[in-house]
Amino acid sequence: MASISGSKKGSRTVRTVRKKTAASSKGTKSSKKGYNKGRATKGQIFFVVFLALITVALAIYWCVESESFNIASNNKLQLHFIDVGQGDCTLIITPEGESMLIDSGKDSESEKVISYISKLGIKTLDYMVISHFHDDHYGSCDEVAEEIGVDVVITNGAPADNNTEKELMQTFERQGCEIMTADAGFELTLGELELYVLGPTQISDGGGNNDSLVIKLTYRASSFLFTGDAEILEEEAILDMYTPNSLSCDLIKVGHHGSNTSSSDDFLDAVDPSIALISVGEGNSYGHPHKSVIDSYNERDVEVYRTDRLGDVVILCDGENIMLYQEKSGPIERFLETIGIG
Ligand SMILES: [Zn+2]
Repeated sequence: MASISGSKKGSRTVRTVRKKTAASSKGTKSSKKGYNKGRATKGQIFFVVFLALITVALAIYWCVESESFNIASNNKLQLHFIDVGQGDCTLIITPEGESMLIDSGKDSESEKVISYISKLGIKTLDYMVISHFHDDHYGSCDEVAEEIGVDVVITNGAPADNNTEKELMQTFERQGCEIMTADAGFELTLGELELYVLGPTQISDGGGNNDSLVIKLTYRASSFLFTGDAEILEEEAILDMYTPNSLSCDLIKVGHHGSNTSSSDDFLDAVDPSIALISVGEGNSYGHPHKSVIDSYNERDVEVYRTDRLGDVVILCDGENIMLYQEKSGPIERFLETIGIG
């Protein structure tokens, strides 16, 4: 299992960068004050012009830099848990720079999701995974496919049962996306990142929560579990099929937004995570995450992070160590620059 650096490390790093920016602008102001006291010498004029040029250069530098980042430049696995309110949306970027979006949030979140992906300099997504056909997981997929582009779409293979889903699949076909279906046993290798599908073991819920794709990602000594909205029924089916050892992960994206219909004791004991990430909307009408679920993780000394309280959450992993960033610590652009992306 990987060791974990807490969010405080990320917070400190971001604050350091912001302080530097503030200090440079103060320095410019105090220099200008000095020139009002008397007649300027040639040296003083030269100094003012020099400072002005530096300021303009820095402004251009920050502006250009914030438009895009070299996503593969830090040689770390990146997991971006994008805050899409009540829904799921995780962008994965491999150390080699391949990209995969697991779910996209609701249709109303498309602008944010597209902007987030674009900002990272991704021209086309290599993969888009739809855990299951509920709108809080696939709602923005069509806009993302049209605006960003997607090479391969992976679904759970449940047949589209309404017009919206059919139109979505037509959008993928129109965009020339390769469409793959996956269930338990499906494997994919992206550089050093290995993807293994644990569930669904069979389509039994008409494409509903219990047919969610449950995916384990392994990168060197670290592993991450994506559960979609899998409920206890699917958790039990997975427990029946796999040994606890093969389910063990450092991080779990908590099933069904922290609903008590998921996160059974047996499943949590097998997964045995160190970090629980809950993708959930503030003040949602379902009461997610349920207190009993939070208690279950706390009883196991699992660190719980929630997008409703923290905004976007980014995990960086070198295969051994996990570093966590919270949006509320500061602008993500500065964080990414600080850790060498950009
Ligand atoms: Zn959901």
